[in-house]
Amino acid sequence: MASDRGPPAGDPTLRRRIEPWEFEFSFDPRKFCKEACLLYEIQWGNSRDVWRHSGKNTTKHVERNFIEKIASERYFCPSISCSIFWYLSWSPCWECSKAIREFLNQHPNVTLVIYVARLFQHMDPQNRQGLKDLFHSGVTIQVMRAPEYDHCWRNFVNYPCGKEAHWPRYPPLWINLYALELYCIISGLPPCLQISRRYQNQLIEFRLILQNCHYQMIPPYILLATGMIQLPVTWR
Ligand SMILES: [Zn+2]
Repeated sequence: MASDRGPPAGDPTLRRRIEPWEFEFSFDPRKFCKEACLLYEIQWGNSRDVWRHSGKNTTKHVERNFIEKIASERYFCPSISCSIFWYLSWSPCWECSKAIREFLNQHPNVTLVIYVARLFQHMDPQNRQGLKDLFHSGVTIQVMRAPEYDHCWRNFVNYPCGKEAHWPRYPPLWINLYALELYCIISGLPPCLQISRRYQNQLIEFRLILQNCHYQMIPPYILLATGMIQLPVTWR
């Protein structure tokens, strides 16, 4: 079975896959790696063919590199519908969010879904507004969860023989905390997730600081999913 051999040798994406350590390092929501990593999929029209590739920051952020690259490709036909899926180790900064919106405004046949492993400098009001504007302009933004980690591992990672099902299972706490904070960003609520780095960034502390508005506006199931809220809590 293919699952016993690693990615099939004839897999056209094989040379474009990233190494397991790189995936685990880049997409671990508990850690802070400086490098941003983008894994992306493109589907044209009704075709079932999926084009997969990865990107990194250069002198520009990876999102802008993607936009410049796809807009300049010969095969990019603005009249054909195009579905793009991004798996980003960091959410876009406000400048990239702006560039993404401009790109989508110019290419109305493109739909974009963004999964993020972490929120980039999420206390910065400009970054928060950028993500909020992206969401309200029709871009789907979600925090990567188990199905996305599984999908990326199988389709973007050069996993070792017999390790197809060994995608990294990060504890749900960090994923739920980022999902909660993303909800706050999209809803226009103040930040509730505080992240501090100590001892040369070796120790990263996640704290939840909730205000009344959070209890009033956030559905209880999202708060409870963090496992950091104790009942009984008086809602609203
Ligand atoms: Zn950026």
